[in-house]
Amino acid sequence: MIMALILASAAAQSPELRVDLHLDTPTQMLTKGLHFDDDAGLEASKAKLRAAGTNVVVQVLWPPRKSDHKARAFALLGVVEQEVERDDDLVIVREPQEARVAVGDGKIAILLSMEGAHGLGGDPNWAEVFGQFYDRGLRLLGITWSFSNRFAGASSDKGGGLTEEGHALVKLAREKRVILDVSHASTATTLAICKSSDVPVIASHSNAQTLRAHVRNLSDEEIRCIAATGGVIGLNFHASFVGGVDGRKADVSRVADHAVHLAAVGGYGVVALGTDFDGYIKKPVGLEDASKVGALWAELERRGWTVAQLEGARGGNFMRAWVAARANSLD
Ligand SMILES: [Zn+2]
Repeated sequence: MIMALILASAAAQSPELRVDLHLDTPTQMLTKGLHFDDDAGLEASKAKLRAAGTNVVVQVLWPPRKSDHKARAFALLGVVEQEVERDDDLVIVREPQEARVAVGDGKIAILLSMEGAHGLGGDPNWAEVFGQFYDRGLRLLGITWSFSNRFAGASSDKGGGLTEEGHALVKLAREKRVILDVSHASTATTLAICKSSDVPVIASHSNAQTLRAHVRNLSDEEIRCIAATGGVIGLNFHASFVGGVDGRKADVSRVADHAVHLAAVGGYGVVALGTDFDGYIKKPVGLEDASKVGALWAELERRGWTVAQLEGARGGNFMRAWVAARANSLD
């Protein structure tokens, strides 16, 4: 009874988990020699995240097309590990419960993702490389970036579906309970992954094609398919993916329109946030950096979203998906 009361009181006091599913801050740190607390140089610095209450962040290992992909992915991982070493406010987390503990301790929880499986390199031993990243904390995997790779087709070059190696990678990711991320993937790849999945699949940073016709956005069929897995879709702030309406530039209201559309097609449980800050995006009016995301929640509240719907979009929906994705993991 006493234990139950203690647990209940801890739950009541634990801060809300607020998640951003896609930040390119490691690339900015690696290429410019910055740290998470360099407020002037980063769109998603520690102070800006704190200002919005964001406390769980997916930091992305993104190898540009013209780079040694595997070496770059490892270099980005190294930068994040060094930051966590030098800054007690940060911790790399591997499980949902670790994130809750970290946030309860006032820290920012970092989840690691690779943006594009080309980061596993061009050698036959990619499964071994994947294991090395996994052992150092990788828990999400974007199957492609903007170009098709040996595993799968991308949306930006009209790529096909999963290759034979792609099927093997999907199988391995599922065995390791790594969340597959279909942002940037072709429609064929996205549907193949979602339709065959018994765990949540996410699109970490994509919007709705119905509102903005762009290859990086998702069709209603893709939205429904992701929702059917129990996955989530992170709203992307890049103005080109948000689009304007009635001659207006991309702004807070238009991002809210995308949220409303995702909810209408996939249910409120599919809505999440994946801003893409520090990823060379064009910012919408009113959402210029990570400190401003509260403006989106205020707009959705103004439109009648309930507390539960807002908490889901801010982080609860992803946490639910993550818990389901890690269920029955071997470690
Ligand atoms: Zn991206």
